[in-house]
Amino acid sequence: MSRGKLIVVSGFSGAGKGTVMKEIMNSYDNYALSVSATTRSPRPGEVEGISYFFKTDDEFRQMIEKDELIEYAGYVGHYYGTPKQFVEKNLDEGKDVFLEIEIQGALKVKEKYPDAVLMFITPPDAKTLRERLVNRGTESMDVIEKRLARAAEEANGVEAYDYIVINDNLQECVEMVDRIVKCEHNRTSERMSIINSIRNDLTK
Ligand code: 5GP
Repeated sequence: MSRGKLIVVSGFSGAGKGTVMKEIMNSYDNYALSVSATTRSPRPGEVEGISYFFKTDDEFRQMIEKDELIEYAGYVGHYYGTPKQFVEKNLDEGKDVFLEIEIQGALKVKEKYPDAVLMFITPPDAKTLRERLVNRGTESMDVIEKRLARAAEEANGVEAYDYIVINDNLQECVEMVDRIVKCEHNRTSERMSIINSIRNDLTK
């Protein structure tokens, strides 16, 4: 059995990446979703161990010191990090592991795992992003404008990503993400052992 692939997903807030992740986990068997550690407080409805592992600053610092995180980053005054053990265990078991993390963390993952696949999920245009943020909740236009300004910053570094996936229609986006992962498993570097084995058999 070959080792799984590490798939890193980022995107503008309002791009719908959380919904895309949920749908991917519900629709396919061979994927695992990493649960991050964070020092921010749970939002209503969030569940310990499912949404996040909620940690104190001290606990988080200890995780860093014990080298238990693949990467971590500060985001709006709190820390977020990816626990290593879950990721390694699932990759070893042949599962493809998804990380839904922001861009700084994604770039660090790419340094540590050069064959990780980085995807950036985006709505087709700014108008859609704006509409999604407006329709999503009760934020004032002022807050929405701030989030949109931040979205522009969130795109810094996106050139380092392997794929930009447009989330216009949810189902199409989910299928595209799945197809990309399947294609990545057909890379020459992944398949070379098959060729070598055929070559060996033919020259016996
Ligand atoms: P939120 O507080 O809205 O759940 O997440 C804030 C941001 O942190 C999002 O962009 C999310 O993708 C990112 N994030 C969540 N977990 C991690 C993580 O483990 N590492 C990094 N670098 N970012 C994360």
